Amino acid sequence: MTNDNTTTSGLAFDIQLSDRRKTPQEREALLESPGFGQVFTDHMVSIRYTEGKGWHDAKLEPYGPLSLDPATSALHYAQEIFEGLKAYRHPDGSLASFRPEANAARFNRSAARMAMPELPEDLFLKSIELLLEHDGEWVPTKPDFSLYLRPFMISTDVGLGVNHPSRSYVYLLIASPVGSYFSGGIKPVTVWLSTDYTRAAPGGTGAAKFAGNYAASFLAQAQAVEKGCDQVVWLDAREHRWVEEMGGMNLWFVFGSGENARLRTPPLTGTLLPGITRESLLTLAPDLGIPAEEKPISTEEWRKAAESGELTEVFACGTAAVITPVGFVKSDEGEFTIGDGTPGPITMRLREELVGVQTGQRPDEHGWVTRFGK
Ligand SMILES: *Cc1c(COP(=O)(O)O)cnc(C)c1O
Repeated sequence: MTNDNTTTSGLAFDIQLSDRRKTPQEREALLESPGFGQVFTDHMVSIRYTEGKGWHDAKLEPYGPLSLDPATSALHYAQEIFEGLKAYRHPDGSLASFRPEANAARFNRSAARMAMPELPEDLFLKSIELLLEHDGEWVPTKPDFSLYLRPFMISTDVGLGVNHPSRSYVYLLIASPVGSYFSGGIKPVTVWLSTDYTRAAPGGTGAAKFAGNYAASFLAQAQAVEKGCDQVVWLDAREHRWVEEMGGMNLWFVFGSGENARLRTPPLTGTLLPGITRESLLTLAPDLGIPAEEKPISTEEWRKAAESGELTEVFACGTAAVITPVGFVKSDEGEFTIGDGTPGPITMRLREELVGVQTGQRPDEHGWVTRFGK
């Protein structure tokens, strides 16, 4: 263990290096085929919060188990929010991530919704910088591989009272080298339109990256798999008619083709998760001459437009898988195919452009790329 300090937001980070770091050979073996979220780097960052005292005890420390009292409030009342972003190795060897300040801002919007304290954005960004400084060798070099960063926060008060939110919290950052999110590469997914379950209702927590949203989704996802589908599509809570999102990704619809192609994505009604990939595509598509609008789409319109051929492609987007084509749709009312069921040209073009910016192979015209360290 060594100790030295580095300061942000008036807060000094204690650096406690692991004496059980993986050897370069062990690391290379793990990076060969890491799966998704199975392998973790040598260190993590933690910062504690206590009401009245604010954020304190910031450190980089060896990755390892947390010790929690069984009455810790997060385990009972689920005050837990998270983020997901990736670090990439650019062609010049430097490390970069994509719009991390947007993740920092969304983390704080999620915190506000769950009555949790906001983390100063510079601390969020500093935690990433520190982890990459010490675990940068874990950022894979292979194409389509990256280091997935998982910042999260849990409540840590001990006790079962539920009259008020916790008064203490811990923010943590862990990192996991990842290959391609959907094993088997880019192949269109089949989706199930869920009318039995609801992900988010007006006034609820759908716009927050809140752990409980996922807990509530697993049964619907299991049902989608039972119906022979890969992913669940969420519809609005009131009518089960308006398309919201797919699993943990936002959805896009391509109408027309070639020069006449135009894009549509459901608007942020408060029940959708405001994806950073979604928001980036709202800018990137028009840059490429493809108009993009936010406008509701119903399941009837989806089916009719697919059947008439006006709807040519559908894809989902999010940090983990970037862009994934949707080829087939099933519901209680039957099933239909999008185009010929293969990945469409607009989907693949947008994917290439976006991945190109993220990985440093395309110019970063919007200042979306933040470089870390060397
Ligand atoms: C994280 C997430 C997304 C995608 O957001 P990105 O910022 O693009 O990664 C979409 N839907 C849900 C439910 C999510 O949790």
